[in-house]
Amino acid sequence: MDSLAHVLVPPLQDPLTYLIPKELEHTIDIGYRVAVPLGKRKASGYVVARETADTQRLQTAYQIKPVSISQENQPCFAQDQLKFFEWVAEYYGDTVSNVIDVAVPPTTPPREQRTVLLRQQPTERLRGKKQHAVVDLLASAAGGISYESLTRRVPGCAAAIRRLCELGIVEVQSCRDERWQDTAPVPEWASKEVALNQAQQEALQAISAALGATKPHTFLLHGITGSGKTEVYIEAIRTALAQGKGVLVIVPEIALTPQLVDRFRGRLGNAIAVLHSAMPPRQRWESWRALLNQRCFIALGARSAVFAPVPNLGLIIVDEEHDASFKQSEGLRYNARDMAVLRARLHACPAVLGSATPAMESLWNAQQGKYTLLSLPARPSQASGVKIEVVDLNHLKPWEMCSPHVSPPLMQQLQGIIERGEQAFILYNRRGFASYLQCERCEEVLCCPNCSVSLTLHRELRSLLCHYCGLSMHIPEHCPACEKENARLQRRTEPSPLKERGAGTERVFEELQQLFPEAQIARLDRDAASNIEQYRAILDSVRSGTTQILVGTQMIAKGHDLPNVTLVGIVDCDVGLHMPDFRGGEKVYQLLTQAAGRAGRALKGGHVILQTRVPKHPAIMATASQDYSTFAALELRARRALGYPPFSRVLRVIASGAEAQRPGDCLISLRRAAEQWLSNQKVHIEILGPSPCPLTRLKAQWRWHMLVKGRSPSELVRFMKFLLPAERKIPGIKLTLDIDPQEML
Ligand code: ADP
Ligand code: ZN
Repeated sequence: MDSLAHVLVPPLQDPLTYLIPKELEHTIDIGYRVAVPLGKRKASGYVVARETADTQRLQTAYQIKPVSISQENQPCFAQDQLKFFEWVAEYYGDTVSNVIDVAVPPTTPPREQRTVLLRQQPTERLRGKKQHAVVDLLASAAGGISYESLTRRVPGCAAAIRRLCELGIVEVQSCRDERWQDTAPVPEWASKEVALNQAQQEALQAISAALGATKPHTFLLHGITGSGKTEVYIEAIRTALAQGKGVLVIVPEIALTPQLVDRFRGRLGNAIAVLHSAMPPRQRWESWRALLNQRCFIALGARSAVFAPVPNLGLIIVDEEHDASFKQSEGLRYNARDMAVLRARLHACPAVLGSATPAMESLWNAQQGKYTLLSLPARPSQASGVKIEVVDLNHLKPWEMCSPHVSPPLMQQLQGIIERGEQAFILYNRRGFASYLQCERCEEVLCCPNCSVSLTLHRELRSLLCHYCGLSMHIPEHCPACEKENARLQRRTEPSPLKERGAGTERVFEELQQLFPEAQIARLDRDAASNIEQYRAILDSVRSGTTQILVGTQMIAKGHDLPNVTLVGIVDCDVGLHMPDFRGGEKVYQLLTQAAGRAGRALKGGHVILQTRVPKHPAIMATASQDYSTFAALELRARRALGYPPFSRVLRVIASGAEAQRPGDCLISLRRAAEQWLSNQKVHIEILGPSPCPLTRLKAQWRWHMLVKGRSPSELVRFMKFLLPAERKIPGIKLTLDIDPQEML
């Protein structure tokens, strides 16, 4: 009898059968990543089942080829995760092999960590300064010193170490480097314990009761910003851990700040596996392994952490559940919030979705009784609340402004902040210096050659960037459109006709520097903080009080709990309001409310200034009056009238291709075929479009889309199954199917 492995090889649908070589018979198991021959090439796949069979008999029919282990000699997912992978695949109409490929981080080969130890004091005089230095250092370090650190402290000491080894004076030990925890000391503020107030206790009790139950239970924890949701999570996590359960906490990528991690470490101890896509692959894999090998029971991560192999999973928390970044925007377009609820159901454990501005879908589920609503209506007593002021820019003449983007009320508040030694956040949700460059003479706007959007001027980077495809180019001195004529007329000595229009964080930063030359001002956006260290440094400078004014994009809006921030100024509330997206209003409302929530989190109270040209817009009025329920009621009514989610489920079908004509033609014929299919089916499906996408060209591809509305995801999946073969059939066209889309561009 032989052992066989059923191996899923992405992107294939069905498992393939391979032989497990005798020497690996007791090793390879479900969850192993293996290398397999596939036709003429080698592929990598995942073992999803084993069986024993009489291959002697089988071999006559066809040759069964053997598997080998790739890199890591252990499973890369736990057996009980397979069911979840299958559900995700089913929901999004993808293959299980693709889901596993997205879920499991790449394995990295184990790295050796070398430690140098002193075995005995030298008995005779040592030759050479470096040998001396090494022995002296080691004599003061009982546990030894890592090889890297030693060679850093005594540069060029490799030969000295080798010689000392030969003499039997030092020893180099090597072991697998399994570091996944952050062992740096936790800052003091992060460890502060609080006593829960009444509302928090009630929420905690409801969650704790569900922890003991055997039925799944989804909670929507609606608490205004700063009302203490995180405190409820922390206590709920403690309760779950005390029962021997594992916990999964998912937060938006942007909110997964070093400060948040510190807060969790400070309260729950160091054993937290942090997972996000920006981590170095080795660290990510070690975090993942710590969970797999049950050395750790808490996973804290961004979107992709929804797949984390948390042992004995007993509680799932999704913070800022409304956040659009939970939705993956390419490949497997899953929504981590929705999949978290699904996963909790599979494990029969509670899921807690927390937000100050719950998504309409979640609110509706709560109103329908599918979720249990828990409310934290106020901030803990010592916080004294915020005052929100709307500044109508229509009533201010350009010369009345203190600078192009700073109105007199904002200026006055900023002065107060500086005088009192407090801090301010200034939000402008656009990167760069100018939104675009326009030629004065021919009115041409400089656009990306690959996408139908204008290029953004980044003065600091001295370049024009496309925010969609990443294209970067030098800032031209002359207009490329009328340049030829220029050359002919020999006008090259004239000043550039290219004028900067619109603005971005860099521009607002510069204006503030001119208004407050003495103040310490910092900028936080993707350009200023392109990695975690820069990000941490900028936020640390705010926490320590060095930075007085922080200007930034939405990166400043989420998750920060900084007690001395008493002013939040929103330079232009209207950015994003006129987007062709049925969630446009909701997204702006959420961003403004989140940003406003950064002010007045401690004793001092806070002030928020909203600069806008549409003060009567429901999203702005609701932010100003801090009235979620009125906004939600209006929004739900509008959605119902138009049949948008949560009153329907939407599938967005995008066709893209290199030729302008093809994507549209393709969708038109697809729609025709779909209508024919629908005419003899008993499903309620409505098709809108096709029409060109608002971003008609993206990364040199022409794009069209249509929206398919149905009553349930399962109906849409059926419909999708009908569409799917088309994906392979149409040459030159890429069909993308996006279930529950978040983006409409
Ligand atoms: P949220 O997650 O809802 O934004 P946090 O949990 O971050 O709110 O709480 C905001 C601030 O209020 C934090 O500094 C937190 O320590 C403090 N806080 C929360 N709950 C209490 C409480 N019951 N008593 C005192 N302070 C509290
Ligand atoms: Zn582009």
